[in-house]
Amino acid sequence: MTDKLYCYCCRNYHPAEQVVLYETKVGKRWRCLRSIQAAQQPSQIRDAAGRQQSLENRARASQQARNSLQLRHSSLAFA
Ligand SMILES: [Zn+2]
Repeated sequence: MTDKLYCYCCRNYHPAEQVVLYETKVGKRWRCLRSIQAAQQPSQIRDAAGRQQSLENRARASQQARNSLQLRHSSLAFA
């Protein structure tokens, strides 16, 4: 678990399991889940419905992909 990926949002390195590929204006960048969640508080999503919603859906999709990868990893670890 020495893999660290550069998060464009914090401009910092995070462990691979804490970042997802996030679509930005300039393409896909790694971004940590914490910064994504911080930027998508429920009240903000409700306020700026459409725009925020599509961002949230995209983030959620990559997060789910990552979560299922993690699940597979942990079930292997327990096997
Ligand atoms: Zn970050």
